[in-house]
Amino acid sequence: MPRSRFAIRAGQAFVGGAFRPAVVVIEAGRVVDILDGARTTPARTRVVTVPDDAVLLPGLVDAHVHVNEPGRTEWEGFRSATLAAAAGGVTTLVDMPLNSIPPTTTVDNLEVKRRAAAPSAFIDVGFWGGAVPENLGRLRPLHEAGVFGFKCFLAPSGVDEFGHLDQAQLEAAMEEVAALGSRLIVHAEDPELLTGGGELGRAYAGFLASRPPASEQSAIGAVIAAARRTGARAHILHLSSADALPAIRQAKEDGVALTVETCPHYLTFAAEDVPDGAGEFKCCPPIRDGANSDRLWAAVADGTIDAIVSDHSPSTVDLKRAGHGDFGLAWGGISGLQLGLSAVWTEARRRGIPLERLIPLFTTGPARVAGLDGLGELAVGAPAHLTVFGVDDPLLVRAKDLLHRNPITAYDGKLLTGRVRRTWLRGVSMFDVSEGGAGEAPRFRGPARGELLVARGPVAARELARVAAR
Ligand code: ZN
Repeated sequence: MPRSRFAIRAGQAFVGGAFRPAVVVIEAGRVVDILDGARTTPARTRVVTVPDDAVLLPGLVDAHVHVNEPGRTEWEGFRSATLAAAAGGVTTLVDMPLNSIPPTTTVDNLEVKRRAAAPSAFIDVGFWGGAVPENLGRLRPLHEAGVFGFKCFLAPSGVDEFGHLDQAQLEAAMEEVAALGSRLIVHAEDPELLTGGGELGRAYAGFLASRPPASEQSAIGAVIAAARRTGARAHILHLSSADALPAIRQAKEDGVALTVETCPHYLTFAAEDVPDGAGEFKCCPPIRDGANSDRLWAAVADGTIDAIVSDHSPSTVDLKRAGHGDFGLAWGGISGLQLGLSAVWTEARRRGIPLERLIPLFTTGPARVAGLDGLGELAVGAPAHLTVFGVDDPLLVRAKDLLHRNPITAYDGKLLTGRVRRTWLRGVSMFDVSEGGAGEAPRFRGPARGELLVARGPVAARELARVAAR
């Protein structure tokens, strides 16, 4: 019997889209068998039992994380980001191409990012490439180097080194990714309909008015039209405005290759509750009102929304507090990598939405968005990325206790329900909250065992290869 063989017994394991009793047998980092929970445990196999007040889930996939290393490592680095992710049950993240210096817009830059990530990745990490005015027409080398797709902005990104595309460039980028069999993921706000650009005051309403729903609607309309014309796979990042949902539903019905994600902050916060001067709530597009959030929830429930991802986009506390709480001057981006499932589950349960409806949006949904098909499932043959979630556990969020780099988050002081208790990466236990004392951060078992993921060839046919991490 190989030493790496063991089993996890759970009264509720998420297998095939539903919870059921199961014994999950793991060997050499893979799930090799899933036995009916009523069956006796395999002989001579060490068994870990999940308590009855917790569930066993596939490791979560977060396809939208800004790690910022190198170049702005003081905002976030691979070590802190991947530890925070693991503590939130995430076992795979896909890094965004901007806010690090250099941005991931050339093969050389991708290699710089990979070298930064390799020694510090506690979970598996893949990379999005960037489509910017300077590299249009030359995306193939990055595609062949293994990025999972290309991100573009239709409005200024917030950093000078990552420019945005105009309408003609959007169309050109779509044609190019369609020919490559890749995908274009789009920050969809129409710059013509945005105002501001300087001080907006300490009241959230001023910032909100500067980025109206019409801006998202217009940009999403352009993305859909371009995807329809070119046949490209397109993905709408961080949907905030529910006004865009009818057009998205129609496009999907028409067979346009469109997916859409939203984020925990759009589902759990409301504009009317954002305190004055609280830059930790600033993100683009903005958190809108509670009625808008209700409509986003309807789109979660009816399957229009494919994925819920963090858009963890941190910065230093100083930058979030720039201008003494002026919403026009604070850096935009929410830090919530460690809290996604807890935050959304807290709200879902209040709305009577069962956990099994949410899990695909945190696992197979984002995996498919990134072309990581097969990830995010608890299935025989899959890597043994697993997490234990205590569905009733209270979680009082304290920014200073979270594992991402800078101790600031919009969730500070929130009492959530549901907490990740334990995470395994390829069958290796990374941390277990029961090993820490009350209130202590979980203790991680080193070393960093995450692998760097590489997408190869046309996405539809690509095999998932792995770069030797170190
Ligand atoms: Zn983002």
